[in-house]
Amino acid sequence: MPSVHRSNFSNHQTQFSERKQKIIQQRKSLPIASVEKRLVEEVRKNDVLIIVGETGSGKTTQIPQFLFDAGFCRDGRVIGITQPRRVAAVTVAKRVSEECGVELGLKVGYSVRFDDATSESTRIKYMTDGLLLREALLDPYLSKYSVIIVDEAHERTVHTDVLMGLLKNVQLARSSSVSDGQGLNFGNKNVNNVMLEKENDQGGNFLKKPRHEKFAPLKLIIMSASLDARTFSEYFGGAKAVHIQGRQFPVDIFYTRHPETDYLDASLITIFQIHLEEGPGDVLVFLTGQEEIESVERLINEKLPQLPQGSQKLLVVPIFAALPSEQQMRVFAPAPSGFRKVILATNIAETSVTIPGIKFVIDPGFVKARSYDPGKGMESLIIVPTSKSQALQRSGRAGRERPGKCFRLYPEKEFEKLEDSTMPEIKRCNLSNLKALGVDDILGFDFIEKPSRAAIIKSLEQLFLLGALTDECQLSDPVGHQMARLPLDPVYSKALILASQFNCLEEMLITVALLSVESIFYSPRDKLEEARTAMKCFSSPEGDHITLINVFRASNDFLEKRSMEMSMAKSEKVYRKWCKENFINSRSLRHARDIHRQIQGHVEQMGLNLSSCGDDMLQFRRCLAASFFLNAAVKQPEGTYRALASGQVVQIHPSSVLFRQKPECVIFNELVQTNNKYVRNLTRVDYLWLTELAPQYYAMQN
Ligand code: ADP
Ligand code: MG
Repeated sequence: MPSVHRSNFSNHQTQFSERKQKIIQQRKSLPIASVEKRLVEEVRKNDVLIIVGETGSGKTTQIPQFLFDAGFCRDGRVIGITQPRRVAAVTVAKRVSEECGVELGLKVGYSVRFDDATSESTRIKYMTDGLLLREALLDPYLSKYSVIIVDEAHERTVHTDVLMGLLKNVQLARSSSVSDGQGLNFGNKNVNNVMLEKENDQGGNFLKKPRHEKFAPLKLIIMSASLDARTFSEYFGGAKAVHIQGRQFPVDIFYTRHPETDYLDASLITIFQIHLEEGPGDVLVFLTGQEEIESVERLINEKLPQLPQGSQKLLVVPIFAALPSEQQMRVFAPAPSGFRKVILATNIAETSVTIPGIKFVIDPGFVKARSYDPGKGMESLIIVPTSKSQALQRSGRAGRERPGKCFRLYPEKEFEKLEDSTMPEIKRCNLSNLKALGVDDILGFDFIEKPSRAAIIKSLEQLFLLGALTDECQLSDPVGHQMARLPLDPVYSKALILASQFNCLEEMLITVALLSVESIFYSPRDKLEEARTAMKCFSSPEGDHITLINVFRASNDFLEKRSMEMSMAKSEKVYRKWCKENFINSRSLRHARDIHRQIQGHVEQMGLNLSSCGDDMLQFRRCLAASFFLNAAVKQPEGTYRALASGQVVQIHPSSVLFRQKPECVIFNELVQTNNKYVRNLTRVDYLWLTELAPQYYAMQN
């Protein structure tokens, strides 16, 4: 070996072992390290254990390692840890694999929708709660797991809540006390009979255990950052709760004197104020979504040249769900010397991921949340004030390593008006997904908190209208079962199935992929006109769906041509330039391409007919009408629209290509509420198609 190489190699080794030493030190200094033995003991003694601990105390990264070391993975069994957010599953798995000194995907791995980094040898598996629900459909006993840790249970997402109900049953089913092998009330009967022998009873939910298999009991750990463990404990029949002492330094809270009219602007001003007036320490800003984060990122970068010469520099790092995972990891890297790091995050950074180095928190006080009106059957995403407990979690992020400061961008009296805690998502969302998640009997399911009867009935009604349910409320054959196999919202699953009949599956696949990401176009405030002009070369007079397809195809053509001519790195650069020139969000488009590839895999497996309607977009629009008939709106004399299903008055969102044209009748995919109610992602349809293609609904209506 040439000597140059050898010396490089040993240098690398030194760095490597330094890093390893540092990680060992960090692990030892975590509050949780001193209670390892006691925690393992409690897990051995209790089948259900609730662990409450301050964010950053080491729950998510350490407990699975403790259990692995204590032998919970003997005989090839797996410890599963669920997270409500994919970002957390991915970044934590990376961190833990590094702590263990193994390559990601071997002993430690993650699995999230559309991205899997696990293998046969994975023993510590981080995943989203939604993914474990899907696994439970295929293997109702979750037989390969010895322990399941439901992390971030305080978030109370729909998936977490449903998961807890299902896990309760799995645990019952696997516990040796069920000696006769029956009497379990499983929710997911429809898929169980794939794996298991179904008892020939009167159509109830009772299942037999497979005859010859013996299951070891399943250990269940519910982890939460909030102090209120009582709800969980009661739900699991008085399960034991242990508290882990955290480390928290004092945080000074500042409020604004008056309410802020524009919290993005106020955030920007505060960032620069901190940067210029405060001592060292990184800044964490809580924004509501990708669009906001990217626009603040741009604004900061534009202002950077105006910073005084010689002052400390600013490094902006965003983190949100759709960010490619290599970029998500950037928030954890310390700022280079001479730089202050400003992290722009969604509520991911509240409790899910702990970012070191933060001393200042900016909290505008808002969060994007799902909201559902069962009367109208409409779900929408709205930006709402945080709860008190969220505000406290956010400010807590400033005091993890030393005393810090939190700037709440609202007056103190507003804080008192906030709700104490956030309402569980299951009480404010459309429940039509539950059937596909394995909840067979929604009305009878053992929820931690029951959703309203009205919401349940409305969601069943919707599934029925989509043709997914039989008159007896069972998944229909084949449509309902096919829909349940796709990891998508029921309406999108149905759209794909219909599209294969309308010979436009290729177009619908692209549409569904693009609708699954936040926004493909971006329009910076100061370049609105330029952005509009750029969009024109893709825009279709028929609406946004075809416009999106045009963008996707144009990017395909561009990539194909360039990838033949140049190297990967170069073509990546050119691709980003192309996106920038066209005011296209390259991250979103990349994410959409990823999703496209994955869904295509699913539909091919299902044997759907992957054909294209070519130039016959009429066919595609008819298919859109047939799929999204529940989201149709007609123009009113004064130029607003009336959503047919809900009767709500809505307006066309300014970002739509149909904003100026105002066609008579449209279907839409999204309702956003700000001061007004806006519909987004629209296509012009013919009113008569609705009665022709969705008679089950429109004949009923009038
Ligand atoms: P908890 O789950 O109790 O909130 P975690 O186990 O997530 O705590 O974090 C424990 C410690 O590990 C924290 O100090 C955090 O800063 C550190 N940590 C977690 N993930 C990473 C990462 N990807 N890179 C560097 N440090 C990390
Ligand atoms: Mg955690």
